[in-house]
Amino acid sequence: MIGEIDEVNGKSLVFEPAAKPVPADERARLLVDPGFGRVFTDHMAIIEYDDQKGWHDARITARQSFEMDPASPVLHYAQEIFEGMKAYRRPKGGAALFRPDANARRFVQSAIRLAMPPLPEEMFLESIRELVRADREWIPDTEDGSLYLRPFMIASGSFLGMRSSTQFIYAVIASSVGSYFKDAPSLSLWVTRDYVRAVRGGTGEAKCGGNYAGSLIAQAEAIRNGCDQVVFLDAIEHKWVEELGGMNVFFVFDDGSMQTPPLDGTILHGVTRDSLLRLARDMGLTVREELYSVDQWKADAESGRLTESFACGTAAVVTPIGSVKGVDGGFTIGGQSSGPLTMRLRSALVDIQRGDAPDPYGWTE
Ligand code: PMP
Repeated sequence: MIGEIDEVNGKSLVFEPAAKPVPADERARLLVDPGFGRVFTDHMAIIEYDDQKGWHDARITARQSFEMDPASPVLHYAQEIFEGMKAYRRPKGGAALFRPDANARRFVQSAIRLAMPPLPEEMFLESIRELVRADREWIPDTEDGSLYLRPFMIASGSFLGMRSSTQFIYAVIASSVGSYFKDAPSLSLWVTRDYVRAVRGGTGEAKCGGNYAGSLIAQAEAIRNGCDQVVFLDAIEHKWVEELGGMNVFFVFDDGSMQTPPLDGTILHGVTRDSLLRLARDMGLTVREELYSVDQWKADAESGRLTESFACGTAAVVTPIGSVKGVDGGFTIGGQSSGPLTMRLRSALVDIQRGDAPDPYGWTE
């Protein structure tokens, strides 16, 4: 089904194969240890938009540079949104996407918040499917390998007025990836007190580039303090744990219950978070979406009431948190680096994503 592209363009995405794809032996070499976000595939998807024609010129084409006017609004006012999702190699061949409809919906919500034209969900899905079809040989055939897909939309055109653009480029690039945290069995976190990520009414719920530009300095602070990732607290009381720079966070207690911060307007509606909530509830676990303060986190870790914590996201999957540090000291979590519930949830999720277990939720396609 091609959906709105048919109506707008009179045809589906046009496929323009790359004239000079990377030779197979070179690709095989790149896929041995691709890391994260460094190895890119041969093709990209592009769909253009302007106020007159709407969405048009949908194509899969050779990955290439953009030509941009220096007055493009994205370069000045950061009118930009993006998504992150993965395609997995199936045990019996082919590739599967995990909940791409959830990313399509979030992309629409981000577009609305950034005053951009929402891309019809079917168009988003079709661009992803076609790009994966063109570049499926780029999915690493390793235990933790996948094809990371990066859909994004930028305001193009040429004007410096303070209003939404009338021209946009939607594109999808793809990157062969291994695990995000390569050598870390568990994460060390830094609680920033100097910087906040989002306020209610701001853009925290949207997946827009500006959120990440603003958090880089806090992430650098985390690295300077010997930690892997930054934790953001709420912007009003500087007390409640919100999320990490690029991941949601969960807490596990000694009574077997779990907790994660609620979606109250400042944190990203993570697809992984949502999936884990569903899996945990279906395992019969008690799960709360409630505020949790950093002081309580410390007290519970020290008393033993808190037994595990983990970070989750498309890139990070489910990664145990081993320690938390801030200006006023730190604490460690649990006695072991990989808590049993963390690993149980991780396996349940990964097995569905990779097709190693049945998918009762219809999450993979
Ligand atoms: N929070 C932030 C700030 C993120 O960038 C991400 C990654 N997209 C997540 C949470 C996790 O979201 P998801 O599970 O949809 O990847």
